[in-house]
Amino acid sequence: MRPVIKPALSRLWREKQTLQFGTVRRHARLIEGVDRRLSGFLELVDGSRDGPALVAAGQKLGLSAEYCQAVLDSLGGSELLDDAQALRDVLELYPPARRDLLGPDVSSLSLVHPAPGEAATVLHGRVRARVEVRGAGRIGAAVGAALAAGGIGEVAVLDRGRVAARDCAPGGLPPGDIGRLRSTAARELVHRATGAPVGERYRRPPTAPPPPTLVVLAPRDGSAAYTGAAVDAQELMRAGIPHLYTGVLEHLGVVGPLVVPGASACGSCATLARRDEDEAWPRLLAQLIDEGPGRARLPACDGAVAASVAGLAALHVQLYLDGVLPPSVDGWCELSAADGMVRRLRLRSHPDCGCLWQSVTPGRAGTMA
Ligand SMILES: [Zn+2]
Repeated sequence: MRPVIKPALSRLWREKQTLQFGTVRRHARLIEGVDRRLSGFLELVDGSRDGPALVAAGQKLGLSAEYCQAVLDSLGGSELLDDAQALRDVLELYPPARRDLLGPDVSSLSLVHPAPGEAATVLHGRVRARVEVRGAGRIGAAVGAALAAGGIGEVAVLDRGRVAARDCAPGGLPPGDIGRLRSTAARELVHRATGAPVGERYRRPPTAPPPPTLVVLAPRDGSAAYTGAAVDAQELMRAGIPHLYTGVLEHLGVVGPLVVPGASACGSCATLARRDEDEAWPRLLAQLIDEGPGRARLPACDGAVAASVAGLAALHVQLYLDGVLPPSVDGWCELSAADGMVRRLRLRSHPDCGCLWQSVTPGRAGTMA
């Protein structure tokens, strides 16, 4: 281990000999009695030396070995240290251009996962992950780009047809892509988010991809907000693949539920819960799914809401892959274009669904009504 005082933390003098690391009050740490020699020693904890070399360097400043070790132990115990070597090793797994882009993300991980080396372990998990985004509209394309930029090893955005004006959004597909194949445009967007030079062509992997670690269901018409794609959901439940519903329906952006098959409430539970509240819901839902005349002629999708939903969806995916349960598990988040509020609603597993008492139940888990 090569200890480094987390570079993401500001260093502020509260008074002459009291040094504060970090600005956010809840996480800030203080070191008192910092004289010139200790200040010099703290400057040396920059990830370029291992522990014994740091102690030796501290001795050259006139500090005792015991004192240097005690300072290092105290820094570690206060969650101020990370392992620079472990971070360098995991970043080596990415192409050089992508390493620099990931710098702020790694700094953030180092704060969220505070033990030395923990951020590197989490990033290792992201490198190994393969996320599939189904739908390349305003939400799906931007989710794909955000996940790729966050260090997910492989992100595939799947869709058919050609890019329409209503698919374009900042952070997603640009207006210059109108008329191009959605799948190609989305693939290039994701590729660019990883720092690939403009104009460099994406090369398809020579072998068939393994099953995804997680799937994001982001159909362009926002229907994930009320059904998810029913067929997709059944397939994913059977395969035991975690999946996240996301979309914008009328004025509401929706992120969730994130379904962990067999362990959390599923999309069918949400449909059954709505049926309990509104007995006409199955009839309404059938008309929505049929793409019949009941559907909105021009779906609403506020651009700022779409960007926020895409960011929130990507964050929830990252949290899940990083080993943290996001609030979209056993619930969902709604973002309203009417008031800008984000609300979290709870989703319980429905007794008629049975997705929890029998984790893999073909033909049952995805039943819509
Ligand atoms: Zn269920």
